[in-house]
Amino acid sequence: MKTDKNIQDIDALGDDHVGTSTDTPLRSDAFKLSSDEKIDIIKEDVRHILETLGLDLTDDSLKGTPLRVAKMFVNEVFGGLNPKKKPNASTFENKYKYGEMLVEKNITLYSTCEHHLLPIVGRAHVAYISNGTVVGLSKMNRIVDYYAKRPQVQERLTIQIVKELQQVLGTEDVACVIDAKHLCVNSRGIRDIESSTVTAEFGGAFKKQETRREFLDYIKLDTQF
Ligand SMILES: [Zn+2]
Repeated sequence: MKTDKNIQDIDALGDDHVGTSTDTPLRSDAFKLSSDEKIDIIKEDVRHILETLGLDLTDDSLKGTPLRVAKMFVNEVFGGLNPKKKPNASTFENKYKYGEMLVEKNITLYSTCEHHLLPIVGRAHVAYISNGTVVGLSKMNRIVDYYAKRPQVQERLTIQIVKELQQVLGTEDVACVIDAKHLCVNSRGIRDIESSTVTAEFGGAFKKQETRREFLDYIKLDTQF
């Protein structure tokens, strides 16, 4: 049975946005059910929530909502939970011998806060220094999108993007900065419309002040880390 203390702890954890792991906490049986089976179950769950709130689901405007939300959860906003949707990581030889930093900036980011299931909207900036292998530019956007399409905390998302690119490119020299608005902060709770959250992960050479500064100068984000 939940005590008031437990409920207070749950509220505090959510509003403080404390994450507990760099891996998304998935159960081992996460994909025993097919996507269609999940949609069928979630559809009924959404119907139950709306009915509990007192809404009339025979209303023309509402009757399709449970199915619509279930499909959106499974196929779109949480589609990045499914490892089958992970972008194919084709890499190329660095024929130009370009040895400087490559920055893909202002990647549009739509994710979902795992504490409140409300949107996180922002921009990701990703950089790497090639050790002989390069990756297609759009692949960087796709990797950001894949990890964003999960219930997330921004710190974990930032780390997951860096780890994936490090693995794909075979180098530690990868960095990511995310600047995002959390609707759970902007539209409820503390209701601070203006605030945004910046997170950063710097691997390998990006741990050096000079390299990090170069990256931050490129993205014109003059934040002290
Ligand atoms: Zn939240």
